[in-house]
Amino acid sequence: TCGICVDRCPFDAIQIVNLPQELDEAPIHRYGENSFALYGLPAPRDGQVTGILGPNGIGKTTAVRILADELQPNLGQIGDPPAWDAILDEHRGTALQPYLEAIDDEDVSVARKPQYVDKLPDRYGGRTRDLLERADERGVVDELARRVGIAPVLDQDLDTLSGGELQRVALIATLARDADFYFLDEITPYLDIGQRMTAARLVRELAESGDRSMLVVEHDLAILDLLADGIHLAYGQPGVFGVITPPKSTKQGINEYLAGYLESENVRVRDSEITFETHAPRTLTGGKPVVEYPALEKSYGEGEFGLSVEAGTIHEGEVLGVVGPNGIGKSTFAQLLAGRLAPDAGSLDASLDISYKPQYVEIDRQMRVETFLRTITDDVGSSYWTTEIAQPLQLDPIMDQQLPDLSGGERQRVAIAACLSDDADLYLLDEPSAHLDVEQRVRTTTAIRRYAENHDATALVIDHDIYMVDLLSDRLLVFDGEPAEHGHASQPQPMREGMNDFLANLDVTFRRDERVGRPRINKPGSQLDREQKQSGEYYYSE
Ligand code: ADP
Ligand code: ADP
Repeated sequence: TCGICVDRCPFDAIQIVNLPQELDEAPIHRYGENSFALYGLPAPRDGQVTGILGPNGIGKTTAVRILADELQPNLGQIGDPPAWDAILDEHRGTALQPYLEAIDDEDVSVARKPQYVDKLPDRYGGRTRDLLERADERGVVDELARRVGIAPVLDQDLDTLSGGELQRVALIATLARDADFYFLDEITPYLDIGQRMTAARLVRELAESGDRSMLVVEHDLAILDLLADGIHLAYGQPGVFGVITPPKSTKQGINEYLAGYLESENVRVRDSEITFETHAPRTLTGGKPVVEYPALEKSYGEGEFGLSVEAGTIHEGEVLGVVGPNGIGKSTFAQLLAGRLAPDAGSLDASLDISYKPQYVEIDRQMRVETFLRTITDDVGSSYWTTEIAQPLQLDPIMDQQLPDLSGGERQRVAIAACLSDDADLYLLDEPSAHLDVEQRVRTTTAIRRYAENHDATALVIDHDIYMVDLLSDRLLVFDGEPAEHGHASQPQPMREGMNDFLANLDVTFRRDERVGRPRINKPGSQLDREQKQSGEYYYSE
């Protein structure tokens, strides 16, 4: 436990080094006597994008409900909510004052993008175009739909769209509103890197176009870095209390978060720091081949999508990162390896056992989490299973819940646990980062890596979070081509070559933060961008 504040800490929050000043004061809101308490609020600013970075369950939605004037904050006094005057008094001279005054004048309209876009078709039936037209207060839907690439699906029903398409529909439906304050709860799940960058650009453009303010929760740190003018960090104990810090510069805030230590707050949010290598890691050569596949071809019929794959070898104990745009054949390749699809040319060793976690997790049977996991392995509860799977994936608190009641992030963790618990030669995980917060991404990365190493297993991980891909992979399998038309997969490559190929296709280069070596997206056409493209170093330096 924490030696410094354990006497004073009212929450037994063992990771807090010193009781932060905020916790000495009254919370902004407390739901009930022994209920969740929120300390601090984010401060939306006109013409700016403000980010929030922190775990799920820490009060972000509570904060937004207050800022949207849906929830009267009670300053911790259960019963009568205090008048706005008391709240205004508390925040005089802070970044939040102008915003609170606007709420007080009933002068704030709010547009919101929900976190779980998969639920959209349940709530709104019918055609995509009809939903978007109802939201189109600014008359921009057609242009935005074209820019994010969903124009071709506007006449389809919502329940026929993929997760990536729903994500873009939800984004446009929110940005098309004529509001003062926009709240976007994650913009990147299911989008590829190009689509993530376009989404970030649209959010920025709307902020810069006038006096609207944008508040964004985002766990893809490369995108958050690109997107936000400033950020608030959020920390605490999920379900118990949450603290939202005063604003920090985006760069400083992300660096502190990765370091696991918030400097001005004197709070440790993690035991270890997350570090990035500026050099490409050494290529792992030790493991014996698990899969040796020949050149493969697969098409879905005359004139439809076609994929060609170069022959390759995947080794025991390695994690192979799989990167490329959406609609380029990554899942098709996964299904060829899994034996769920037969190739048109080339043949595969059908004796290989493959455990597969699809991109869209559908585990909605009425069943307890533990019962579900026991249908996959007898190891549930064993010490190895607990250490290697349950702990890093934080399953303990949700083992008794019913599958349909899980949140998106919980469902993702259960699906990853189910995939890794199966006894297989090859583990295929499609977008494990979706809906996980930064802490969970790091823990999941560690769990997958450790699992592959300890079990001489091999993992293929498709993901679009470039930090996660970097931290996770020994080598890269790069897909390119024309989405929905034709795709091509090269051989598995060492990290440096793979990143260079992948990012050259995207025309994106990364520089390094001078203090912590964190990769940051270069501004297109900047001097570094031009130099790096010329020398062919898109990601790793030196
Ligand atoms: P986040 O958006 O960061 O995931 P929320 O603001 O939704 O977090 O929730 C923070 C905590 O507050 C959760 O533990 C949640 O159970 C609790 N909470 C949310 N709404 C209520 C409510 N109306 N009454 C009691 N507790 C609530
Ligand atoms: P990725 O995983 O890279 O997003 P996919 O392998 O899922 O790509 O899909 C590649 C292309 O093949 C997409 O255009 C998709 O619409 C199409 N496709 C996928 N499955 C089928 C199918 N069963 N029949 C016809 N087309 C399909």
